[in-house]
Amino acid sequence: MLALRVAAAAGCSLTPPPGSPATGKAFASCADASLMQVDSAVEAAAAAQPGWAALTLDERKATMANAKVALLAAKADLAPLLVREQGKPLNQAEGEIDGCAMLLQRCIDLEMPEDVYSEDETRKIVAVRRPVGVIACICPWNYPLFTSLQKWAPALVIGNAVVVKPSPFTPLSTLALAVVLKDVFPAGTFNVVSGADGGEFNAGARLTAHPLVRKVSFTGSIATGKKIYGVAAPDMKNVTLECGGNDAAIVRADADVATACKGIFGSAFANSGQLCCAAKRVFVHESLLEEFKAEAVKLAGEAKFDEGFAQGVTHGPINNKMQFERVSALVEDARAAGAEILCGGKRMAPNGEAESFFYAPTIICGVAEGTRVVDEEQFGPVMPIMSFADDAEAIRRANDTMFGLGGSVWGKDVAAANAMAGQVHAGTVWVNQHSDLTGAPFGGFKWSGIGRELGKSDIEAFSETQTLSLAK
Ligand code: NAD
Repeated sequence: MLALRVAAAAGCSLTPPPGSPATGKAFASCADASLMQVDSAVEAAAAAQPGWAALTLDERKATMANAKVALLAAKADLAPLLVREQGKPLNQAEGEIDGCAMLLQRCIDLEMPEDVYSEDETRKIVAVRRPVGVIACICPWNYPLFTSLQKWAPALVIGNAVVVKPSPFTPLSTLALAVVLKDVFPAGTFNVVSGADGGEFNAGARLTAHPLVRKVSFTGSIATGKKIYGVAAPDMKNVTLECGGNDAAIVRADADVATACKGIFGSAFANSGQLCCAAKRVFVHESLLEEFKAEAVKLAGEAKFDEGFAQGVTHGPINNKMQFERVSALVEDARAAGAEILCGGKRMAPNGEAESFFYAPTIICGVAEGTRVVDEEQFGPVMPIMSFADDAEAIRRANDTMFGLGGSVWGKDVAAANAMAGQVHAGTVWVNQHSDLTGAPFGGFKWSGIGRELGKSDIEAFSETQTLSLAK
Protein backbone atom coordinates (compact mmCIF):
# COMPACT_ATOMS: atom_id res chain seq x y z
CA MET A 1 0.00 0.00 0.00
CA LEU A 2 2.81 2.37 0.89
CA ALA A 3 4.34 2.09 -2.55
CA LEU A 4 1.06 2.76 -4.24
CA ARG A 5 0.60 5.99 -2.28
CA VAL A 6 4.09 7.14 -3.23
CA ALA A 7 3.37 6.35 -6.84
CA ALA A 8 0.14 8.31 -6.76
CA ALA A 9 1.86 11.29 -5.18
CA ALA A 10 4.74 11.30 -7.61
CA GLY A 11 2.83 12.44 -10.68
CA CYS A 12 1.22 11.14 -13.83
CA SER A 13 1.53 7.56 -15.03
CA LEU A 14 2.96 7.43 -18.53
CA THR A 15 3.16 3.71 -19.22
CA PRO A 16 0.64 0.94 -18.62
CA PRO A 17 1.56 -1.10 -15.53
CA PRO A 18 3.23 -4.43 -16.24
CA GLY A 19 1.14 -7.51 -15.47
CA SER A 20 1.80 -9.51 -12.34
CA PRO A 21 3.95 -12.43 -13.55
CA ALA A 22 1.65 -15.04 -12.01
CA THR A 23 -1.48 -13.72 -13.74
CA GLY A 24 -0.36 -11.49 -16.59
CA LYS A 25 -2.81 -8.91 -15.24
CA ALA A 26 -1.98 -5.56 -13.66
CA PHE A 27 -2.46 -5.46 -9.89
CA ALA A 28 -1.14 -1.94 -9.26
CA SER A 29 0.01 1.10 -11.14
CA CYS A 30 3.13 3.12 -10.55
CA ALA A 31 3.83 6.63 -11.73
CA ASP A 32 6.83 7.36 -13.90
CA ALA A 33 8.94 10.23 -12.64
CA SER A 34 8.92 13.18 -14.99
CA LEU A 35 12.28 14.38 -16.27
CA MET A 36 11.95 17.39 -13.95
CA GLN A 37 11.41 15.06 -11.00
CA VAL A 38 14.55 13.11 -11.94
CA ASP A 39 16.48 16.39 -12.03
CA SER A 40 15.12 17.53 -8.68
CA ALA A 41 16.08 14.20 -7.07
CA VAL A 42 19.65 14.66 -8.32
CA GLU A 43 19.71 18.27 -7.13
CA ALA A 44 18.40 17.24 -3.70
CA ALA A 45 21.13 14.59 -3.51
CA ALA A 46 23.82 17.07 -4.49
CA ALA A 47 22.61 19.55 -1.87
CA ALA A 48 22.47 16.95 0.92
CA GLN A 49 25.69 15.06 0.17
CA PRO A 50 28.30 17.39 1.74
CA GLY A 51 26.51 17.44 5.10
CA TRP A 52 26.14 13.65 5.08
CA ALA A 53 29.81 13.20 4.14
CA ALA A 54 30.81 15.54 6.98
CA LEU A 55 29.49 13.06 9.54
CA THR A 56 31.95 10.52 10.87
CA LEU A 57 31.95 6.99 9.49
CA ASP A 58 30.63 5.78 12.84
CA GLU A 59 27.72 8.22 12.67
CA ARG A 60 26.80 6.99 9.20
CA LYS A 61 27.16 3.38 10.37
CA ALA A 62 24.66 4.13 13.16
CA THR A 63 22.19 5.27 10.50
CA MET A 64 22.79 2.06 8.53
CA ALA A 65 22.00 0.12 11.71
CA ASN A 66 18.68 1.99 11.96
CA ALA A 67 18.01 1.17 8.30
CA LYS A 68 18.58 -2.51 9.01
CA VAL A 69 16.10 -2.47 11.90
CA ALA A 70 13.51 -0.66 9.75
CA LEU A 71 14.03 -3.05 6.82
CA LEU A 72 13.55 -6.16 8.95
CA ALA A 73 10.51 -4.63 10.67
CA ALA A 74 8.94 -4.12 7.22
CA LYS A 75 9.77 -7.62 5.94
CA ALA A 76 6.21 -8.90 6.32
CA ASP A 77 4.96 -6.07 4.04
CA LEU A 78 7.83 -6.04 1.56
CA ALA A 79 8.10 -9.78 0.87
CA PRO A 80 4.53 -10.27 -0.48
CA LEU A 81 4.93 -7.16 -2.64
CA LEU A 82 8.13 -8.63 -4.06
CA VAL A 83 6.29 -11.89 -4.81
CA ARG A 84 3.50 -10.10 -6.62
CA GLU A 85 5.65 -7.84 -8.76
CA GLN A 86 8.64 -10.16 -9.35
CA GLY A 87 7.05 -13.61 -9.20
CA LYS A 88 9.45 -15.47 -6.90
CA PRO A 89 8.20 -17.79 -4.12
CA LEU A 90 7.47 -16.08 -0.80
CA ASN A 91 10.29 -17.84 1.10
CA GLN A 92 12.76 -16.68 -1.57
CA ALA A 93 11.41 -13.11 -1.36
CA GLU A 94 11.97 -13.27 2.40
CA GLY A 95 15.45 -14.65 1.71
CA GLU A 96 16.15 -11.69 -0.58
CA ILE A 97 15.22 -9.30 2.25
CA ASP A 98 17.44 -11.23 4.68
CA GLY A 99 20.23 -10.85 2.09
CA CYS A 100 19.59 -7.09 2.11
CA ALA A 101 19.88 -7.05 5.91
CA MET A 102 23.21 -8.87 5.54
CA LEU A 103 24.39 -6.18 3.10
CA LEU A 104 23.47 -3.50 5.64
CA GLN A 105 25.35 -5.41 8.33
CA ARG A 106 28.44 -5.39 6.11
CA CYS A 107 28.11 -1.60 5.93
CA ILE A 108 27.84 -1.45 9.72
CA ASP A 109 31.06 -3.51 9.92
CA LEU A 110 32.91 -1.58 7.17
CA GLU A 111 36.44 -0.46 7.97
CA MET A 112 38.19 2.18 5.87
CA PRO A 113 41.71 2.43 7.27
CA GLU A 114 44.05 5.03 5.83
CA ASP A 115 46.96 3.65 3.86
CA VAL A 116 50.27 5.16 4.97
CA TYR A 117 52.86 5.05 2.17
CA SER A 118 55.73 6.74 3.96
CA GLU A 119 56.37 8.75 7.07
CA ASP A 120 59.46 10.55 8.40
CA GLU A 121 60.19 13.58 10.63
CA THR A 122 59.08 16.06 7.96
CA ARG A 123 56.24 14.42 6.04
CA LYS A 124 53.54 11.76 6.02
CA ILE A 125 52.16 10.48 2.74
CA VAL A 126 48.83 8.77 3.11
CA ALA A 127 46.06 7.55 0.80
CA VAL A 128 42.55 8.08 2.15
CA ARG A 129 39.15 7.43 0.58
CA ARG A 130 36.69 10.22 -0.21
CA PRO A 131 33.07 9.88 -1.36
CA VAL A 132 32.43 10.40 -5.08
CA GLY A 133 29.39 12.67 -4.60
CA VAL A 134 26.04 11.79 -6.16
CA ILE A 135 25.74 8.20 -7.39
CA ALA A 136 23.05 6.92 -9.74
CA CYS A 137 22.06 3.32 -8.96
CA ILE A 138 20.31 1.70 -11.93
CA CYS A 139 18.77 -1.68 -11.14
CA PRO A 140 17.26 -4.74 -12.87
CA TRP A 141 14.08 -6.72 -12.14
CA ASN A 142 15.38 -10.15 -11.11
CA TYR A 143 16.43 -9.28 -7.53
CA PRO A 144 15.01 -5.75 -7.24
CA LEU A 145 15.83 -5.15 -3.58
CA PHE A 146 19.15 -6.99 -3.33
CA THR A 147 20.68 -5.49 -6.47
CA SER A 148 19.68 -1.97 -5.38
CA LEU A 149 20.91 -2.38 -1.80
CA GLN A 150 24.16 -3.79 -3.15
CA LYS A 151 24.68 -0.29 -4.54
CA TRP A 152 23.01 2.27 -2.33
CA ALA A 153 24.00 0.80 1.03
CA PRO A 154 27.80 0.89 0.57
CA ALA A 155 27.50 4.16 -1.39
CA LEU A 156 25.70 5.83 1.52
CA VAL A 157 27.86 4.53 4.35
CA ILE A 158 30.93 5.85 2.51
CA GLY A 159 29.35 9.33 2.41
CA ASN A 160 27.75 9.59 -1.03
CA ALA A 161 24.14 10.54 -1.74
CA VAL A 162 22.19 8.28 -4.10
CA VAL A 163 19.41 8.35 -6.65
CA VAL A 164 18.10 4.82 -7.17
CA LYS A 165 16.18 3.83 -10.28
CA PRO A 166 14.39 0.48 -10.10
CA SER A 167 13.34 -1.43 -13.21
CA PRO A 168 9.95 -0.40 -14.62
CA PHE A 169 8.97 -4.09 -14.22
CA THR A 170 9.57 -4.08 -10.44
CA PRO A 171 9.39 -0.55 -9.02
CA LEU A 172 7.03 -1.17 -6.10
CA SER A 173 9.20 -2.97 -3.55
CA THR A 174 11.98 -0.38 -3.93
CA LEU A 175 9.51 2.50 -3.59
CA ALA A 176 7.93 0.82 -0.58
CA LEU A 177 11.35 0.45 1.03
CA ALA A 178 12.01 4.14 0.34
CA VAL A 179 8.88 4.98 2.31
CA VAL A 180 10.07 2.73 5.16
CA LEU A 181 13.45 4.50 5.19
CA LYS A 182 12.10 8.02 4.64
CA ASP A 183 12.91 9.21 8.16
CA VAL A 184 16.04 7.07 8.62
CA PHE A 185 18.36 8.94 6.25
CA PRO A 186 18.75 12.74 6.22
CA ALA A 187 16.51 14.42 3.61
CA GLY A 188 17.99 14.33 0.13
CA THR A 189 20.58 11.62 0.72
CA PHE A 190 18.45 8.65 -0.39
CA ASN A 191 16.17 9.12 -3.40
CA VAL A 192 14.20 6.72 -5.57
CA VAL A 193 12.78 7.60 -8.98
CA SER A 194 10.79 5.09 -11.00
CA GLY A 195 10.48 5.39 -14.73
CA ALA A 196 9.92 3.72 -18.05
CA ASP A 197 12.66 2.89 -20.54
CA GLY A 198 11.02 4.21 -23.69
CA GLY A 199 11.93 7.32 -25.65
CA GLU A 200 11.62 10.81 -24.32
CA PHE A 201 10.73 9.81 -20.75
CA ASN A 202 13.62 7.42 -20.08
CA ALA A 203 14.33 8.22 -16.42
CA GLY A 204 17.51 6.10 -16.42
CA ALA A 205 18.91 7.92 -19.44
CA ARG A 206 18.14 11.30 -17.86
CA LEU A 207 19.73 10.26 -14.59
CA THR A 208 22.91 8.86 -16.09
CA ALA A 209 23.40 11.95 -18.27
CA HIS A 210 22.93 14.43 -15.41
CA PRO A 211 26.14 16.44 -14.82
CA LEU A 212 25.74 16.36 -11.02
CA VAL A 213 25.86 12.54 -11.09
CA ARG A 214 29.54 11.65 -10.78
CA LYS A 215 29.20 7.86 -10.77
CA VAL A 216 26.78 5.37 -12.30
CA SER A 217 26.49 1.96 -10.70
CA PHE A 218 24.50 -0.17 -13.12
CA THR A 219 23.22 -3.75 -13.05
CA GLY A 220 21.35 -4.97 -16.10
CA SER A 221 21.76 -6.09 -19.67
CA ILE A 222 24.89 -5.70 -21.78
CA ALA A 223 22.97 -3.56 -24.30
CA THR A 224 21.99 -0.99 -21.66
CA GLY A 225 25.43 -1.20 -20.03
CA LYS A 226 27.03 -0.18 -23.32
CA LYS A 227 24.62 2.76 -23.68
CA ILE A 228 25.45 3.97 -20.18
CA TYR A 229 29.18 3.63 -20.82
CA GLY A 230 28.74 5.80 -23.93
CA VAL A 231 26.78 8.46 -22.05
CA ALA A 232 29.29 8.51 -19.17
CA ALA A 233 32.36 8.96 -21.38
CA PRO A 234 31.99 12.62 -22.51
CA ASP A 235 31.47 13.68 -18.89
CA MET A 236 34.23 11.36 -17.53
CA LYS A 237 31.77 9.82 -15.08
CA ASN A 238 32.96 6.86 -13.12
CA VAL A 239 31.00 3.65 -13.87
CA THR A 240 30.56 0.18 -12.52
CA LEU A 241 28.74 -2.04 -14.99
CA GLU A 242 27.40 -5.38 -13.76
CA CYS A 243 26.00 -6.91 -16.93
CA GLY A 244 24.68 -10.18 -18.26
CA GLY A 245 26.34 -13.57 -18.24
CA ASN A 246 26.27 -16.83 -20.16
CA ASP A 247 28.11 -18.99 -17.65
CA ALA A 248 29.60 -22.32 -18.64
CA ALA A 249 29.45 -25.24 -16.21
CA ILE A 250 32.02 -27.92 -17.10
CA VAL A 251 31.40 -31.45 -15.84
CA ARG A 252 34.67 -33.40 -16.02
CA ALA A 253 34.84 -37.13 -16.73
CA ASP A 254 35.44 -38.01 -13.08
CA ALA A 255 32.45 -36.05 -11.72
CA ASP A 256 29.72 -37.66 -9.66
CA VAL A 257 26.76 -37.05 -11.96
CA ALA A 258 24.03 -36.86 -9.29
CA THR A 259 26.00 -34.30 -7.26
CA ALA A 260 27.06 -32.21 -10.26
CA CYS A 261 23.63 -32.24 -11.85
CA LYS A 262 21.92 -31.24 -8.61
CA GLY A 263 24.28 -28.27 -8.18
CA ILE A 264 24.10 -27.18 -11.80
CA PHE A 265 20.32 -27.57 -11.98
CA GLY A 266 20.00 -25.54 -8.76
CA SER A 267 22.04 -22.75 -10.33
CA ALA A 268 20.49 -22.86 -13.82
CA PHE A 269 16.94 -22.73 -12.46
CA ALA A 270 17.55 -20.42 -9.48
CA ASN A 271 14.92 -17.66 -9.60
CA SER A 272 13.58 -19.58 -12.64
CA GLY A 273 16.84 -18.93 -14.48
CA GLN A 274 16.63 -15.17 -13.95
CA LEU A 275 20.00 -14.91 -12.26
CA CYS A 276 22.96 -13.19 -13.88
CA CYS A 277 25.43 -15.85 -12.74
CA ALA A 278 23.25 -18.91 -13.36
CA ALA A 279 24.76 -21.84 -15.26
CA LYS A 280 23.55 -21.17 -18.81
CA ARG A 281 25.71 -23.47 -20.95
CA VAL A 282 26.38 -26.95 -19.56
CA PHE A 283 29.33 -28.89 -20.99
CA VAL A 284 29.32 -32.54 -19.90
CA HIS A 285 32.07 -35.05 -20.65
CA GLU A 286 30.78 -37.33 -23.41
CA SER A 287 31.09 -40.43 -21.20
CA LEU A 288 28.55 -38.95 -18.73
CA LEU A 289 26.13 -37.30 -21.13
CA GLU A 290 23.24 -39.79 -21.08
CA GLU A 291 23.33 -40.17 -17.29
CA PHE A 292 23.45 -36.38 -16.86
CA LYS A 293 20.50 -35.84 -19.22
CA ALA A 294 18.36 -38.36 -17.34
CA GLU A 295 19.24 -36.79 -14.00
CA ALA A 296 18.43 -33.27 -15.23
CA VAL A 297 15.02 -34.35 -16.56
CA LYS A 298 14.30 -36.04 -13.23
CA LEU A 299 15.11 -32.83 -11.32
CA ALA A 300 12.97 -30.75 -13.69
CA GLY A 301 10.07 -33.11 -12.95
CA GLU A 302 10.52 -32.61 -9.21
CA ALA A 303 10.56 -28.80 -9.36
CA LYS A 304 7.25 -27.20 -8.44
CA PHE A 305 6.57 -24.15 -10.62
CA ASP A 306 3.63 -22.17 -9.30
CA GLU A 307 2.63 -18.78 -8.01
CA GLY A 308 4.73 -17.49 -5.16
CA PHE A 309 2.16 -17.99 -2.41
CA ALA A 310 1.37 -21.64 -3.34
CA GLN A 311 2.16 -24.44 -0.89
CA GLY A 312 5.50 -26.14 -1.60
CA VAL A 313 6.36 -23.91 -4.57
CA THR A 314 10.04 -23.97 -5.56
CA HIS A 315 10.02 -21.85 -8.74
CA GLY A 316 7.95 -18.92 -9.98
CA PRO A 317 7.09 -17.55 -13.42
CA ILE A 318 9.23 -15.48 -15.76
CA ASN A 319 8.94 -11.86 -14.64
CA ASN A 320 7.47 -10.17 -17.69
CA LYS A 321 5.91 -10.66 -21.10
CA MET A 322 8.89 -9.37 -23.03
CA GLN A 323 11.24 -11.83 -21.31
CA PHE A 324 8.69 -14.65 -21.62
CA GLU A 325 8.53 -14.08 -25.37
CA ARG A 326 12.32 -13.93 -25.61
CA VAL A 327 12.78 -17.24 -23.79
CA SER A 328 10.06 -18.88 -25.92
CA ALA A 329 11.74 -17.58 -29.08
CA LEU A 330 15.15 -19.02 -28.08
CA VAL A 331 13.60 -22.45 -27.49
CA GLU A 332 11.64 -22.34 -30.75
CA ASP A 333 14.79 -21.35 -32.62
CA ALA A 334 16.59 -24.38 -31.13
CA ARG A 335 13.65 -26.66 -31.94
CA ALA A 336 13.65 -25.45 -35.54
CA ALA A 337 17.39 -26.17 -35.72
CA GLY A 338 16.71 -29.81 -34.76
CA ALA A 339 17.44 -29.67 -31.02
CA GLU A 340 16.16 -32.38 -28.72
CA ILE A 341 13.79 -30.82 -26.16
CA LEU A 342 14.07 -33.36 -23.34
CA CYS A 343 11.35 -31.71 -21.26
CA GLY A 344 9.42 -28.45 -21.13
CA GLY A 345 9.64 -26.23 -24.18
CA LYS A 346 6.20 -24.77 -23.63
CA ARG A 347 4.08 -22.37 -21.65
CA MET A 348 2.31 -23.70 -18.58
CA ALA A 349 -0.38 -22.35 -16.27
CA PRO A 350 -0.13 -24.20 -12.95
CA ASN A 351 -2.54 -21.74 -11.32
CA GLY A 352 -5.01 -21.79 -14.19
CA GLU A 353 -4.09 -18.24 -15.30
CA ALA A 354 -3.79 -18.49 -19.07
CA GLU A 355 -2.05 -15.11 -19.44
CA SER A 356 0.58 -15.77 -16.76
CA PHE A 357 4.28 -15.98 -17.65
CA PHE A 358 5.03 -19.53 -16.49
CA TYR A 359 7.39 -21.46 -18.72
CA ALA A 360 7.93 -25.18 -18.10
CA PRO A 361 11.48 -26.14 -16.98
CA THR A 362 13.25 -26.93 -20.23
CA ILE A 363 16.27 -29.17 -20.81
CA ILE A 364 17.72 -29.03 -24.31
CA CYS A 365 20.22 -31.33 -25.97
CA GLY A 366 21.54 -31.67 -29.50
CA VAL A 367 22.47 -27.99 -29.72
CA ALA A 368 25.82 -26.30 -30.25
CA GLU A 369 27.43 -22.93 -30.68
CA GLY A 370 25.74 -21.04 -33.51
CA THR A 371 22.30 -21.63 -31.96
CA ARG A 372 20.76 -18.68 -30.11
CA VAL A 373 19.95 -20.65 -26.95
CA VAL A 374 23.67 -21.36 -26.55
CA ASP A 375 25.14 -18.10 -27.82
CA GLU A 376 22.75 -15.74 -26.00
CA GLU A 377 21.86 -15.35 -22.35
CA GLN A 378 18.50 -17.12 -21.88
CA PHE A 379 17.61 -15.58 -18.51
CA GLY A 380 14.79 -18.07 -18.05
CA PRO A 381 14.12 -21.71 -17.04
CA VAL A 382 16.08 -23.26 -19.90
CA MET A 383 19.27 -25.33 -19.71
CA PRO A 384 21.17 -26.42 -22.84
CA ILE A 385 23.47 -29.44 -22.36
CA MET A 386 26.37 -30.15 -24.71
CA SER A 387 29.12 -32.79 -24.63
CA PHE A 388 32.90 -32.47 -24.94
CA ALA A 389 35.74 -34.91 -25.49
CA ASP A 390 38.64 -33.46 -23.48
CA ASP A 391 39.48 -30.64 -21.06
CA ALA A 392 41.10 -28.44 -23.71
CA GLU A 393 37.94 -28.52 -25.80
CA ALA A 394 35.78 -27.68 -22.77
CA ILE A 395 37.91 -24.66 -21.87
CA ARG A 396 38.10 -23.43 -25.46
CA ARG A 397 34.31 -23.58 -25.86
CA ALA A 398 33.59 -22.11 -22.42
CA ASN A 399 35.77 -19.11 -23.29
CA ASP A 400 34.63 -18.68 -26.89
CA THR A 401 32.17 -15.91 -26.04
CA MET A 402 32.10 -12.20 -25.18
CA PHE A 403 30.36 -13.04 -21.89
CA GLY A 404 32.57 -13.53 -18.83
CA LEU A 405 30.55 -13.29 -15.64
CA GLY A 406 30.89 -16.71 -14.00
CA GLY A 407 31.70 -20.34 -14.62
CA SER A 408 32.21 -23.61 -12.84
CA VAL A 409 34.18 -26.85 -13.01
CA TRP A 410 32.89 -30.08 -11.50
CA GLY A 411 34.87 -33.22 -10.66
CA LYS A 412 36.11 -35.54 -7.92
CA ASP A 413 39.76 -34.73 -8.60
CA VAL A 414 39.63 -31.39 -6.83
CA ALA A 415 43.23 -30.44 -7.67
CA ALA A 416 42.58 -30.92 -11.39
CA ALA A 417 39.24 -29.08 -11.20
CA ASN A 418 40.83 -26.22 -9.25
CA ALA A 419 43.58 -25.91 -11.86
CA MET A 420 41.02 -25.85 -14.65
CA ALA A 421 38.94 -23.17 -12.88
CA GLY A 422 41.77 -20.66 -13.34
CA GLN A 423 41.58 -21.14 -17.11
CA VAL A 424 37.94 -20.04 -17.37
CA HIS A 425 37.78 -16.37 -18.43
CA ALA A 426 35.17 -15.09 -16.00
CA GLY A 427 34.89 -12.83 -12.97
CA THR A 428 33.94 -15.65 -10.60
CA VAL A 429 34.70 -19.34 -11.12
CA TRP A 430 33.48 -22.00 -8.73
CA VAL A 431 34.63 -25.59 -8.23
CA ASN A 432 31.83 -28.03 -7.40
CA GLN A 433 29.48 -25.06 -6.87
CA HIS A 434 27.86 -22.47 -9.12
CA SER A 435 26.26 -19.09 -8.24
CA ASP A 436 27.09 -19.26 -4.53
CA LEU A 437 27.81 -15.63 -3.61
CA THR A 438 30.12 -15.18 -0.68
CA GLY A 439 30.65 -11.47 -0.25
CA ALA A 440 33.87 -11.65 -2.25
CA PRO A 441 34.28 -9.13 -5.12
CA PHE A 442 31.78 -9.79 -7.92
CA GLY A 443 31.71 -8.63 -11.55
CA GLY A 444 32.46 -9.67 -15.09
CA PHE A 445 35.23 -10.06 -17.67
CA LYS A 446 34.68 -8.84 -21.24
CA TRP A 447 31.10 -7.66 -21.97
CA SER A 448 29.84 -8.94 -18.62
CA GLY A 449 31.03 -5.78 -16.98
CA ILE A 450 33.47 -3.22 -15.76
CA GLY A 451 34.55 -2.93 -12.14
CA ARG A 452 33.53 -4.99 -9.13
CA GLU A 453 31.04 -4.63 -6.31
CA LEU A 454 30.57 -6.49 -3.01
CA GLY A 455 33.23 -7.33 -0.46
CA LYS A 456 36.29 -5.11 -0.32
CA SER A 457 35.50 -3.88 -3.85
CA ASP A 458 32.78 -1.66 -2.41
CA ILE A 459 35.35 0.81 -1.13
CA GLU A 460 36.96 0.97 -4.57
CA ALA A 461 33.56 1.18 -6.27
CA PHE A 462 31.99 3.95 -4.18
CA SER A 463 34.88 6.22 -3.27
CA GLU A 464 37.85 8.04 -4.75
CA THR A 465 41.41 7.67 -3.52
CA GLN A 466 42.90 10.91 -2.25
CA THR A 467 46.65 10.97 -1.64
CA LEU A 468 47.62 13.47 1.05
CA SER A 469 51.21 14.53 1.35
CA LEU A 470 51.08 16.09 4.80
CA ALA A 471 53.72 18.39 6.23
CA LYS A 472 54.95 18.00 9.80
P1 NAD B 1 17.97 -3.78 -18.59
O1 NAD B 1 19.30 -3.43 -19.11
O2 NAD B 1 16.84 -3.87 -19.55
O3 NAD B 1 17.48 -2.73 -17.48
C1 NAD B 1 18.26 -2.47 -16.33
C2 NAD B 1 17.96 -1.07 -15.83
O4 NAD B 1 18.44 -0.12 -16.78
C3 NAD B 1 16.48 -0.79 -15.63
O5 NAD B 1 16.30 -0.05 -14.45
C4 NAD B 1 16.16 0.06 -16.84
O6 NAD B 1 15.05 0.88 -16.64
C5 NAD B 1 17.43 0.86 -17.01
N1 NAD B 1 17.63 1.45 -18.33
C6 NAD B 1 17.11 1.06 -19.51
N2 NAD B 1 17.56 1.87 -20.51
C7 NAD B 1 18.40 2.77 -19.93
C8 NAD B 1 19.19 3.84 -20.44
N3 NAD B 1 19.23 4.15 -21.74
N4 NAD B 1 19.94 4.54 -19.57
C9 NAD B 1 19.94 4.23 -18.24
N5 NAD B 1 19.19 3.24 -17.71
C10 NAD B 1 18.44 2.52 -18.55
O7 NAD B 1 18.16 -5.14 -17.78
P2 NAD B 1 17.04 -6.05 -17.11
O8 NAD B 1 16.29 -6.73 -18.20
O9 NAD B 1 16.28 -5.25 -16.11
O10 NAD B 1 17.89 -7.10 -16.29
C11 NAD B 1 18.30 -8.32 -16.81
C12 NAD B 1 19.77 -8.28 -17.14
O11 NAD B 1 20.50 -7.88 -15.99
C13 NAD B 1 20.32 -9.63 -17.52
O12 NAD B 1 21.18 -9.50 -18.63
C14 NAD B 1 21.12 -10.04 -16.29
O13 NAD B 1 22.15 -10.96 -16.54
C15 NAD B 1 21.63 -8.73 -15.83
N6 NAD B 1 22.04 -8.79 -14.41
C16 NAD B 1 23.37 -8.71 -14.13
C17 NAD B 1 23.81 -8.82 -12.81
C18 NAD B 1 25.28 -8.73 -12.46
O14 NAD B 1 25.58 -8.54 -11.29
N7 NAD B 1 26.19 -8.86 -13.41
C19 NAD B 1 22.88 -9.01 -11.80
C20 NAD B 1 21.53 -9.08 -12.11
C21 NAD B 1 21.12 -8.97 -13.44
